[in-house]
Formats: sequence, structure tokens, C-alpha cells
Amino acid sequence: MQPALDLLKSVFGFDAFRPGQAEIIEAILNEEDVLAIMPTGGGKSLCYQLPALRREGMTLVVSPLIALMRDQVEALRRLGVEAGALTSANDPEETERVFDAIDRGVLKLLYLAPERLGSAAPLIRRTGVSLLAVDEAHCVSQWGHDFRPDYLKIGALRAALGGPQTAAFTATADEETRAEIAAKLFAAPPRVFLRGFDRPNIHLAFAAKDGPRRQLLDFVTARKGRSGIVYASSRNKTEVLAGALRHAGLPALPYHAGLDPETRRDHQERFQLEDGVVMCATIAFGMGVDKPDIRYVVHADLPKSMESYYQEIGRAGRDGAPAETLTLYGLDDIRLQRMRIDESPAPNDRKRADHARLNALLALAEAPRCRRQILLGYFGEQSEPCGNCDLCDRPPALFDGTEAAQMALSAIYRTEERYGQDHIIAVLRGEATEKATRAGHDQLAVFGKGADKAKGWWRGVMRQIYALGLVRIDAERHGAWRLTDAARPVLRGEERIEIREDTLRAKAKRADRAV
Ligand code: ADP
Ligand code: ZN
Repeated sequence: MQPALDLLKSVFGFDAFRPGQAEIIEAILNEEDVLAIMPTGGGKSLCYQLPALRREGMTLVVSPLIALMRDQVEALRRLGVEAGALTSANDPEETERVFDAIDRGVLKLLYLAPERLGSAAPLIRRTGVSLLAVDEAHCVSQWGHDFRPDYLKIGALRAALGGPQTAAFTATADEETRAEIAAKLFAAPPRVFLRGFDRPNIHLAFAAKDGPRRQLLDFVTARKGRSGIVYASSRNKTEVLAGALRHAGLPALPYHAGLDPETRRDHQERFQLEDGVVMCATIAFGMGVDKPDIRYVVHADLPKSMESYYQEIGRAGRDGAPAETLTLYGLDDIRLQRMRIDESPAPNDRKRADHARLNALLALAEAPRCRRQILLGYFGEQSEPCGNCDLCDRPPALFDGTEAAQMALSAIYRTEERYGQDHIIAVLRGEATEKATRAGHDQLAVFGKGADKAKGWWRGVMRQIYALGLVRIDAERHGAWRLTDAARPVLRGEERIEIREDTLRAKAKRADRAV
């Protein structure tokens, strides 16, 4: 279930697929026609970009938004992928460059604006298309909110191209629209992917490390007889933990890429066949594991990103029966992960994006309310409080953080949503750094308004407003903090917000820059 993981890493720089991506990509690589419904922000474009790299010839992408196409083409070119767009906004050189790449047969992805479908048809017919990808496919729906008459030409183009494999994507999930898309874009019914990301049978829980060995032993011992995975951040640690659990009378085995193949196979087989084995593993364990009745997943250390977290906990409870998770996290983990990112040879843009993905996970760790809402929200899915996470079970003590949040939000707003956390906090605390004075931020009304609170206290507030969805961190813009629509009512004083007390008190001394 991990098609083209190598490309995901080497070209796109991601370490895990997002929910749904792996299945959709696998189907596309198997040459199936696909209609995929994914929430906005869920990562649709990767689902056709990655297969495009895997196969011969050109992938044609029809997309309605010129600005979006341009962004994608630029991003792909930065990754070293031959991509181009033909839109009404092209300048002549750009069009020349695209034509030339098509002529030389090197263009992998051609983005085409709907209004160009007719005029570009002869050229495309000559070149041939190995995959037709239709973004925002609901635009073909005459009754939909976003109807684009030009989208109706896609069917004809498809026929003229000899009916190439087609993959259509949309975030609109209602049944009528789906049926209309299927009828208008495909010759035969496509395979439909419509799966919410939620795995409601998996209980979510986080705990700050506080005697982590004990915490792990308690958790696993209480579940003796059930199969589970304990993920640890290093090979050595998997062996140490397996030893400690065995010492406590539990059938635990280590698993990591450094073990010889025979041992690895043996351990995997025992986990698969025997009841109640605890696998202490690095993330090398999981890809090929197909055990439906894994009852729990413990992260002995914080995972790398929201995506990795989701993927790893998702190995529990595939049979649909209740399953549990526990993620332990501590200051050292955060430091380690940050160091790994900083010291990797990746370019700076990618590092910033990696930091942002880690930050999202930290915000989940210190969330003030339902974890599932935050997790699903990260992948673009709205939901109600789940009743199946530790925070729904036992809501944490909260205080009225409206004023603090307003200050932070207004500092973000007044500095034009262009800065990261450190600078925003410096402004709040009235630190006349060079950056602040140069930008004139020391003249802002909000400058120094929060000087009576420590840096760590403000970091806590920042994590919380992030967890509440009032801001997002723009990975594409150097990790700048930006306001979301949800921030407005708070800024206008129409909505009060509550902040978790423990995250500000306990960690006020922390020296990390957690979000
Ligand atoms: P949409 O579904 O709205 O078209 P995009 O394709 O634009 O979403 O993806 C949204 C964001 O998610 C992009 O910034 C993209 O780089 C990021 N993304 C996509 N797939 C992954 C992944 N597997 N891991 C991490 N980030 C990803
Ligand atoms: Zn919940």
C-alpha cells in the first residue's frame, strides 16, 4: 500500500502519504479511471503529479484557476519536474517554452485552462496524453455552484484523444454532483474514492513525558494479551524498550532496519501470527504489516509530522473494533526533531515546511479541546467533538484567553501576516530588535503590550490559537503566521476563547520554540 514512496520522498520531500493519497495513487498507477473526493487542502494535486512522474508521456491537467496552475507549475519546476501551463495569462516566452518542451517530448505535466481546451486540442492530440487529470471536477456540474461551461468540452477532448485514462478530483461530495461528474467525464463508471479520513474507533491520547518508561510500562501492562506497536525514535531504543517490557513479563520484540533480514522476518511473523505480541519498532515497521487486530499504537517519542502521526496510529484497529493510542512527547523530542530538520541537507523552503508540519503536531499535543477535530481539521475535514479522545473524556482546565489571543492576533495582523512566531512574540513583549525597528514595528500600538508575560507563556498562547484554528502557518511563505476567517470574530470581540491553563504554567520555562 505504499506505491512510489521513493518518489514521494526524493521528489516531493514528504515522508508519509496523507489520508487517501496512497490508495488513489495506487489505483491510478494500476491504470484505473478514478474519481476522488478529498477535502480542500487534503493534497489532491500530489495524486496526479506523482503518477505523472512514474509513467511515459505527458499528463494533461485541466484546472480552472490560472493563479493556482501557475503556483503548481512553479513549485514543480523548483522540484526539478518538467511542467508547464497554457493559459490566457501566458506571456509569449512562456508559451514558447511549453511548446518547445512538448515538441522535445520532455514535458511531464501540461496544465491547461478550460478556455484553452478547444484551441489546444490539435497540439495535444498530436502529442498524446497518457493521463488526463481533471481538478475541481465539480465545475462540470450544471447545477453546481461553480459551473464552468468550458468544462463540458473535456468529454469531447477525452474522446478525441482516444479515451486516455482519466482521474477527476473534487472536494464536493454530494451524490448528485458525483453522478454528474461520472457521467460527463468518463466513458465507463470510474472507481470512486470517498472515504472520510476519520477512524472513529481509534481513541486518541497524548501525554507529556513524566517518567516515560513507567508511562509506557503502565499502558502496555494494562493491555497485556493484546497486540500492539510501540514506535520509538531510534533503533537502539526499540531494543531497550523491548528488553524492559520483556523484563516486565510481556512478549515484546524489537524491529528496525538494522536487524538482519532473518530476525526481522521472524519477528514480523510472530507479531502477525501470535496473539498479544508487542512490537517495539522504528517507523521501518508498518509498511507491509497487514494485521487487522492491532489494538494499540504507542508513540514512545513524538512522530515527525501530522502526516506521520496519522499514518502510524492508523495501523491500529483496522478491523473496526475499538483501538487505543498514546503519544508521549517531551522537550527533548521536540529538540531532536527540530535538529533533524535543521541539519538535513534539504533547501530552506523545505525545512520551513517541515517545521510547520511538526508545529501542527505540537499544537495537537497541547490542544485545548477535542483532538480529533483538530486532526481532521488539519486535513480539511470539519467535524464535531468526537467523544473518543482523552480531551473529550476529561476536558482540561481552561481560562479566558480572549485578551491574550486578541493581542497575539493583532500583532500578527499589524505586522502584515509576514512573520514567524519569534518575531511576533518579540513585538508583543516590546523587544526592540533590529528586525522590529527596521520594519517600524516598535511604533505599533501592540508593541510591548504583552511585556509582563514571559516568552514561554506567549509561546503557549501561540500554540493554543494555532490549535484553535485562528491562525495557520504558511509553509510556502517562510512559515509566516496568517489569520484565518475564524480569527475575525475573536478580534472583534464577538467570540471569547478559552486557553488551556496547564500548557502555559507547566511549560512557561521551556526554552524551545515550540510552534
Ligand atoms: P488540495 O487538495 O486542496 O488541492 P493541495 O494538493 O494543494 O490540496 O495540497 C495541500 C498542501 O498539502 C500543499 O501544501 C501540499 O504540498 C501539501 N501536501 C500534499 N501531500 C502531502 C504529504 N503527503 N505530506 C505533506 N504535505 C503534503
Ligand atoms: Zn474528542
